[in-house]
Amino acid sequence: MNKNLYLKATVTGKRQITIPKEICELLNIDTGKQVIFRTEGKKVIFEAEKEYETCFACFGTSKIGEIECFVCKGTGKLEKDIISDIYKLVGVLSIHSIKYGVEIDFIQQEIDNNGIFSYKEFPVIKLRSSKYPADELLRIQDEIQKLIIEQFTPKSTEKNKTLFYLPSDAMLNLILDTLSTKKAKEEVTKWFRYERTI
Ligand SMILES: [Zn+2]
Repeated sequence: MNKNLYLKATVTGKRQITIPKEICELLNIDTGKQVIFRTEGKKVIFEAEKEYETCFACFGTSKIGEIECFVCKGTGKLEKDIISDIYKLVGVLSIHSIKYGVEIDFIQQEIDNNGIFSYKEFPVIKLRSSKYPADELLRIQDEIQKLIIEQFTPKSTEKNKTLFYLPSDAMLNLILDTLSTKKAKEEVTKWFRYERTI
């Protein structure tokens, strides 16, 4: 949703208002969720409280090997919003990349022998760094690649369950080729074998 909203609500007894449906949808507000009122001068900003998950790169320990984690900047946690949107995650990693000495390639297009560009069905992420242990870097690269696969795989909804569409063998090989470690390849193969629900 890109357009700006302008909505009104009436204050009732005990200073209560009903949050407009459109705002709840925009901010993903549900029963029990905390919301924040923040002032800027006389203006009030209303936002949903950020939700965090343990950092997938350092498992919340804030370190990779002996070095501060470049994914979460050593906080051990990541905003859910960032994990669920690969473009946001790549944006955040790009901002951290210079400070932590990690080069990031996010390949979304390929060029064929005739010089024609096309979008890849599954973008590929590559991490390079001389500071972090190579095996750890590959593991993290695969964790991010798994998020890409999860977000780019066509899904269907049946009986209120969201399922991954089973890809053809050729497509599955193409997907698995984007991963480096055996562990990640096996894990992703299972997602499809059992039509993983999300
Ligand atoms: Zn981390």
